[in-house]
Amino acid sequence: MREERKPGYLFLPDEEFERRIEVLYRRMEKCNICPRNCGINRYVTNKGLCRMGVKLKIASANLHFGEEPPISGYRGSGTIFFSGCPLRCKFCQNYPISQLLNGNYITEEELAERMLELQERGAHNINLVTPTHFVPQIIKATYIAKKMGLRIPLAYNTSGYESVETLRYLEGIVDIYMPDIKYSDNYWARKLSAAPNYWDVVRPAIKEMYRQVGGLKLDERGIAYRGVLIRHLVLPEGVAGTEKVFKFIAEEVGRDVYISLMSQYFPAYRAFDDPVVNRRITRREYEEAVKLLEKYGLENGYIQELYFYEM
Ligand code: SF4
Repeated sequence: MREERKPGYLFLPDEEFERRIEVLYRRMEKCNICPRNCGINRYVTNKGLCRMGVKLKIASANLHFGEEPPISGYRGSGTIFFSGCPLRCKFCQNYPISQLLNGNYITEEELAERMLELQERGAHNINLVTPTHFVPQIIKATYIAKKMGLRIPLAYNTSGYESVETLRYLEGIVDIYMPDIKYSDNYWARKLSAAPNYWDVVRPAIKEMYRQVGGLKLDERGIAYRGVLIRHLVLPEGVAGTEKVFKFIAEEVGRDVYISLMSQYFPAYRAFDDPVVNRRITRREYEEAVKLLEKYGLENGYIQELYFYEM
């Protein structure tokens, strides 16, 4: 059975695609695509916090089998990693791509071709990883790909640090949102990701994603075709503020949202310099987070049994 988009995306009229592309490309002249609001002209410099100008840069485009079961399915998720990132997480596990900017420049037309190649290889979806700063280029590439026959769902795989205004331009284009909620405490967001307003930004962003696509919906094979899947990575010493995160989801978003509670944290990049996050989490830290899922009645989702630092 081939993947098919559900009504919505395919019916976004060409004029609406073109309008959105025009507005968003103009916004890069004084860039406010993400909540950093750098105000730089990305046509002449790449000195914004994401360190990306107007040219697309990607590190890879391949089938990926390590995502949650409804995303990877049995044929893989067509995963495209974008270079650069508006956040500066000290512990980023993708830091060679996000912060050292590894990758190759490509055009929007070439990105569209990569999407179609992944579809051809059987991908259940196109999974855009760290897409935030390239929303204009991604919409343009999707528009081109749509005309060439793209029909699988588009998944937006983000840190959660998103501008609501920009997210509105993705309505009817993105089918699945996979945001992180990294912290519920701005102190740690500033210290570890240089984002002192992360908690204030991520909550309205998640609500906007949920408004657009609702809770995660699976087809008869268990493959996701629409909805929100929130990821929460448990960090050492309660730094991720898990209880406040789950309380927010249960009370202000919806209990039909799927949650992926991740245990795979390991210190990478500059995390070794910080005595709080320079170790893996313990089994007890993870189990406490699992109990909080139960406490807030969040029953949909995935928990992991990976590696723990035993104490
Ligand atoms: S997309 Fe980049 S340049 Fe634009 S506001 Fe965000 S970090 Fe700054």
